[in-house]
Amino acid sequence: MTRVLIINSGSSSLKLQILDTAVEEELAWALVERIGEPSGILTVRRTDLTGMPAEERTEKPTIEDHTAALARVLELADELEVHPTDLGVEAIGHRVVHGGPDFHEPVLVTPEVEADIEELELLAPLHNPANLRGIRVARDLLPGLPHVAVFDTGFFHTLPAAAHTYAIDRETAKRWDLRRYGFHGTSHEFVSHRTAAVLGRPHGELNQIVLHLGNGASASAIEAGRAVDTSMGLTPLEGLVMGTRPGDLDPGLIIHLIRDRGMSPEDVSTLLNRQSGLEGLSGARDFRELLTRVDEDDDAGLAYDVVIHRLRRYIGGYWAVLGTVDAITFTAGVGENVARLRADALSTLGSWGVEIDADANENGSGERVISTPGSKVAVLVVPTDEELAIGRACDDVLGLGG
Ligand code: ADP
Repeated sequence: MTRVLIINSGSSSLKLQILDTAVEEELAWALVERIGEPSGILTVRRTDLTGMPAEERTEKPTIEDHTAALARVLELADELEVHPTDLGVEAIGHRVVHGGPDFHEPVLVTPEVEADIEELELLAPLHNPANLRGIRVARDLLPGLPHVAVFDTGFFHTLPAAAHTYAIDRETAKRWDLRRYGFHGTSHEFVSHRTAAVLGRPHGELNQIVLHLGNGASASAIEAGRAVDTSMGLTPLEGLVMGTRPGDLDPGLIIHLIRDRGMSPEDVSTLLNRQSGLEGLSGARDFRELLTRVDEDDDAGLAYDVVIHRLRRYIGGYWAVLGTVDAITFTAGVGENVARLRADALSTLGSWGVEIDADANENGSGERVISTPGSKVAVLVVPTDEELAIGRACDDVLGLGG
């Protein structure tokens, strides 16, 4: 039996899960949000797979920092009898957003690896510092366990140079490692393997387009099992329209705002990371809220149309990159739950042989094929599970589980 604690540490949130990777089941789960704000929220849940009935504790304390967050989670876990030590957790797996040019695979966290992740903060100032905080806090409060880092960029290390190169001065790009890296790789990899399993075909034989549509959103093109293109770039700002980020835009717009309109780089960063995308267009960053207004309110309607237009451009573009496509898969909060978006994103592809089964699309649930038997391309919905993928990576790196 192998038990692993998975930590996803964000700038103001901490998500934890204890997984039994032998049976691939969750034993306990915790979420802390609004760390550092007056109205924090903290939940710890024990599942019934522990042999005890499921039970949950929620509090709304002010949580000063990540150390306080994890300390309180561990206290409640102790009360619920799911403290990682008591459950026999053998390793801790961490989501690390930016792996830069060198981290292709999950790795054991050594002092050198930690220093490298720290150095990559320059490329991912909003993410890597928070990820590193998660590693350090967990080491302090749960000493003696090995830590494994799983990089969001890892799956995309196979991108060919033509896809990852920005057409800017070569020397400048080389000096600062400016290239497209891609993110959400753990999800794209997991979902593409599940897609192959659902279709009963080898992963290495399929050409796929995967659409990870959550708060963050990205698309990938996978050729014979290897990633050949993805929509996020040097940072997670590029590509599809997201909850609060714009995706693609003319870089001239940024120069214009700073040089001609007096905005500071910090203001522009806030605009592009927090005040754009669905939020900027409609005031609703949450897709569920957007959907309640989409048919009545012009701003919400426009936001939805921009999302669909951008999706179509990426799907069509990746189809041209791949030549032939075996499967198109939707995943993450929006991709898994919004049938209307799936239908609209593919509605112009009838002449390319894509045919959605309306009933399967609208009424089914969970992992499934939503195209008709006659469709030339299989269209699927596959729930993503990045925690499970990180848990498996811990097993692989540490040789756990036999
Ligand atoms: P992330 O992991 O990037 O924070 P998620 O994959 O959880 O994001 O996706 C969050 C998004 O999914 C939100 O916009 C949310 O509104 C949307 N979402 C989740 N469930 C549903 C649902 N049942 N119907 C419509 N949208 C949903």
